[in-house]
Amino acid sequence: MSLPSPHALSRIVVAVDGPSGSGKSSVSRGVAARLGLRYLDTGAQYRAITYWMLQNKVDVDDPAAVAAEAGAPAIVSGTDPEQPAISVDGEDVSAAIREADVTAAVSAVAAVPAVRARLIALQREVIGAGGIVVEGRDIASVVAPDAAAKVFLTASQDARARRRNAENGGGDATVTATREALTRRDSVDNRTNALSAAPGATVVDATELTLDQVIDTVAGIVVHAAEGTAPGAGSQGVGLTR
Ligand code: C5P
Repeated sequence: MSLPSPHALSRIVVAVDGPSGSGKSSVSRGVAARLGLRYLDTGAQYRAITYWMLQNKVDVDDPAAVAAEAGAPAIVSGTDPEQPAISVDGEDVSAAIREADVTAAVSAVAAVPAVRARLIALQREVIGAGGIVVEGRDIASVVAPDAAAKVFLTASQDARARRRNAENGGGDATVTATREALTRRDSVDNRTNALSAAPGATVVDATELTLDQVIDTVAGIVVHAAEGTAPGAGSQGVGLTR
């Protein structure tokens, strides 16, 4: 694939939305690394604020208590796709935010409007003049509705559960439990942000694709957007529904 001029890419904003386990992080990082763009994981920010609430004994099931503290933690996100970093009050929490207690609490914290307002403002600051791939659930619809490239990445529930289970180091026996946990998180997340493609987004179904194929597909969409042209039928066609 030939790349457009660095200038054309230097200001692009790429929104990658989708449910948990669709492969958003690996794909977004891969696309950013390939195209020399920055990378922002907004899910990591929701996890980081949740981690802080748990550490500070805030009742995460009490929206008023969470809202009252929403402005307190200092959250800093790195934007290097090769080494995504996130810190809270100066502490590197990249590993801690993936723990089960954070995963179980994050959807409730992310549903609190004061938390969303705070993080959306932070996300827009990081996006700045662009040149970035931003992954989340409301990027194309709320955070950056003017993004030049919008992708909604999805996969079947089974594929998502298998992927998430493997990431967590689980064997076949735990796939069912992982699928149930994903379904629970989807149902809360769905109330906060519709887990569906925003207007103008290209749906990429990763169920039958390898990671490299999805990265190729999404990078193709980004390059065409940077050139100001629509993706040509056939040139990015692997698993692509539009
Ligand atoms: O992407 P990840 O699974 O790490 O996101 C963790 C949680 O953060 C999601 O389950 C969702 O509740 C929340 N989230 C959100 N809006 C985003 C990104 C994540 O509400 N843009």
